[in-house]
Amino acid sequence: MTAKLDPSVRDLLLPDARNWLDRPPLSPFIDGAFRAARSEHRLPVVDPGSGVTMTEYVTASSEDVADAVRAARAAFDDGRWSELDPEAREARLRYLAGLLDRDSEAVAQLESLDTGKPLAEARLDIAEAVAVLRYYAGWATKIEGVVIPAPRRLLATGTREALGVCAAITPWNYPLPILMYKLAPALAFGNTFVAKPSEQAPLSTVYFAQLCAEAGIPDGVVNVLPGGGATGAALTSAPGIDKIAFTGSTRTGQAVMRAAADTLTKVTLELGGKSPQLVFADADWDAAIKGVMDGIWTNAGQICVAGSRLIIDRGIHDEFVTELVRRTRQLTIGHGLAPGTHMGPLVSAAQRGRVNRMVAHAVAEGAEAHDGPTPPEGNGFFTAPAVLTNVAPGTQIERDEVFGPVLTVVPFDTEDDAVRLANNSCYGLAAGVWSTANDTVHRVARRLRAGIVWANSYGIFHPSLPFGGVKSSGFGRELGFAGVEHYTELKTTVIDLGPGPAN
Ligand code: NAD
Repeated sequence: MTAKLDPSVRDLLLPDARNWLDRPPLSPFIDGAFRAARSEHRLPVVDPGSGVTMTEYVTASSEDVADAVRAARAAFDDGRWSELDPEAREARLRYLAGLLDRDSEAVAQLESLDTGKPLAEARLDIAEAVAVLRYYAGWATKIEGVVIPAPRRLLATGTREALGVCAAITPWNYPLPILMYKLAPALAFGNTFVAKPSEQAPLSTVYFAQLCAEAGIPDGVVNVLPGGGATGAALTSAPGIDKIAFTGSTRTGQAVMRAAADTLTKVTLELGGKSPQLVFADADWDAAIKGVMDGIWTNAGQICVAGSRLIIDRGIHDEFVTELVRRTRQLTIGHGLAPGTHMGPLVSAAQRGRVNRMVAHAVAEGAEAHDGPTPPEGNGFFTAPAVLTNVAPGTQIERDEVFGPVLTVVPFDTEDDAVRLANNSCYGLAAGVWSTANDTVHRVARRLRAGIVWANSYGIFHPSLPFGGVKSSGFGRELGFAGVEHYTELKTTVIDLGPGPAN
């Protein structure tokens, strides 16, 4: 089957990406092999930059889900992965990371095509996925236990053991990095895995399944189920799973947690956000404007940590906004694969409709919209980035996650005022503080209710830096040592040494 692609887009693809798209194995990957899905339900794979439906696939059914969980269970129980020497797991994961690195340009093209993001951003995503895989491969041989200072006649140890079968449900905005935040620690510590990528961007995850087979990851250790909400719901209620790691919207996270309650499955939830960027009058303007722009225009604002609320000293409000809008107008909006694109389309027509409606509603509520560059003509799901001033705290646009290129601006008069505005949200994922005064930065960072605070920077991710939210942004942390805590269980072993020889 040949994928339908706009000819200008087809010409930009590497032969590897083009060939793979023409014969997409977009079917469940279970027990080491791709197999036909047992369902009637089909979903399209759409290029958001042209609106063209490239291909279709049959979604994984509840029987496919059960098979995948069974395969992962069997692979865990017989120890083909969990009982390998740690050096062997490390070597296998490093080899897998090398394969992803080898194919990184083709995978970046597929990711750009599937999500709409500029190719330059997709390249960074794949590099991050490789780095996370390598980071946790290293942990496989570094994890140690403890000897517990129990009463002297007891020898008590704490050892970290794999949980069993881990499942991941992931969103479409950063498909491969977010998958890797979960899969890499899970595999490093001996767990087996079932992944359900987003229906809107399954390409890179399915490609990765193929690399797992090539890398010699034993059958059943990694399973992938392309599908939508129904597949995700079947996975969250399937018996035999020890942990579900979910990243997505707060509403779906609540559904996942409810379903997991029935099977008493552990969950970690990385959810939505409405993150503030606080700019003080003494900030380095150039760095702050760049940081605010990157924080909201990257991936067309479809980022969980989007710095979507600019909270700024009233004294610099007008001048800062004027410069921000001037620079925003210089951005080029275009197809993700087109050279020179700074901002791509939104992922779907539905998402664009939602974003545009929220902006129109904000304007009706009194906000002033400073439009950005004009989006290209055509059938892609483009929208213009919007800076909104005169935004009253508590209005819909200031309160709800937009998940698009929309920045609200609210002035503050005092530091207390700034912190109060920043914390006045049901979310608590990230925050940015811009000031050249160290005391301001430390004082404000301490008071912000967020899982991560970036000071005089924004959006820095690294495999060593734990990431996650508070409040409605979820709970649990990914990356860094948090991966060890969330993908292992502590076992206490107590040996009674007896009273010892009498003196
Ligand atoms: P979504 O909640 O619609 O979907 C996420 C995943 O859940 C998809 O794979 C989807 O198929 C699946 N799903 C849908 N219904 C389900 C159900 N009933 N049971 C189980 N799974 C189900 O989110 P999205 O639109 O793909 O992504 C955007 C959202 O994700 C935003 O809110 C964004 O803030 C959030 N996000 C958070 C982080 C983070 O780390 N905190 C990172 C990226 C995105």
